[in-house]
Amino acid sequence: MEDVLAGLQAFMNPSLARTYRFMGLDHAELTAHGAIVVDREGVEYIDCAGGYGVFVQGYRHPRILAAAHHQLDEMPLSSRVLVNPRTIELAARLAELTPGDLQYSFFCNSGTEAVEAALKIARGSTGRSRIISTVGAFHGKTFGALSVSGRDLYQKPFQPLLSDIVRVPYGNLEALQSVMSSDVAAVIVEPIQGEGGVIVPPDGYLQGVRALCDEYGSCMIADEVQTGIGRTGHLFAVDYEGVVPDLLCLAKALGGGVMPIGAVVGRPWAWKLFEENPLIHTSTFGGNPLACRVALEALAVTVEEDLPGRAQRLGQWLISELRSLSQRHADLIVEVRGRGLMIGVEFSNAGVAAMIMAELFARHVLAVYTLNNERVIRLVPPLVIDRPALEEVLVKLEQALEVVESVKVDLL
Ligand code: PMP
Repeated sequence: MEDVLAGLQAFMNPSLARTYRFMGLDHAELTAHGAIVVDREGVEYIDCAGGYGVFVQGYRHPRILAAAHHQLDEMPLSSRVLVNPRTIELAARLAELTPGDLQYSFFCNSGTEAVEAALKIARGSTGRSRIISTVGAFHGKTFGALSVSGRDLYQKPFQPLLSDIVRVPYGNLEALQSVMSSDVAAVIVEPIQGEGGVIVPPDGYLQGVRALCDEYGSCMIADEVQTGIGRTGHLFAVDYEGVVPDLLCLAKALGGGVMPIGAVVGRPWAWKLFEENPLIHTSTFGGNPLACRVALEALAVTVEEDLPGRAQRLGQWLISELRSLSQRHADLIVEVRGRGLMIGVEFSNAGVAAMIMAELFARHVLAVYTLNNERVIRLVPPLVIDRPALEEVLVKLEQALEVVESVKVDLL
């Protein structure tokens, strides 16, 4: 639909409009259900981009929609003067579901805000300033979160960013050990790097980060904005290694594909900052009853429909299918990796990945590359997707690969 791209060009972001046009993304979405997005012409697309991890429970899950309608009628936003029971119910449920003694919640409205809050809580509660982050990390684009992200491209125009940030290679405990000291307030890690290109760390990495943080009295921040709420085959990706972080950041799928919400869940010691001043960090819309009621239902659906188990089963099968596909197209696919339904397919270069993306779109499959690594296309479909739909994606991916192979002389 040329008119939406003309609108994007005229009123929002001309350069982005050109990119959309170049990629052939010229259709306007109208509605969606389950793992299907429908455009204004009624064409259905299988969604493997999943709102970059938002749609764990699928689009417009009936139970989550009903919860939203109920709360809209009761009280969508809080007076902020009185406490709303929905906010407390969600905090209590998160304390129950998150590992170990994670207990207190701070609510906000997005992933980057959850990271901002975690960084402030870590500095405030430890009285230290240094934050260790990792190469290739993505934690958001507000100033604090951007400061701990791992790609210069997004940081350069905004220097100087937060000071006393040190970046080490991801998945490398020796490198982390070499920068640890009693000056370190926090180590922030994604259990699997999402935007970095779906990078799965070596087994034992999270336990090693935990042990180093214990040794130096530093705060371990697990950024589960993308991995959290079932995506990787566990409710939280830290569960894979049985690790309890000091601060756990959530957003995306916590909102059940219906409402924006972010959260930081912390262990009691990490909440010291709020003891000294309960209003030291706040958000007007954070913890609003509409988002909290929806998040409660999203968690109930995730647990009762065993979406983590579904991610594990479908993911295992899909990764092995993709690996055999990659053997047939070894010239184009470098690696297939992931856990659960958080899967990355790394192509030989960014041009190939872009062309595959466009060819998939032409075959009505939505898939996008990762922000910090354009060679990698991520497959993060809603966990409610079924096997026939994924089989269709595999067929279309193979067709896309064949098209690219026929013209690859120009690309390589
Ligand atoms: N942390 C991680 C691990 C993410 O993947 C993202 C978004 N892709 C963010 C933080 C930022 O979330 P938001 O876009 O909601 O600010």
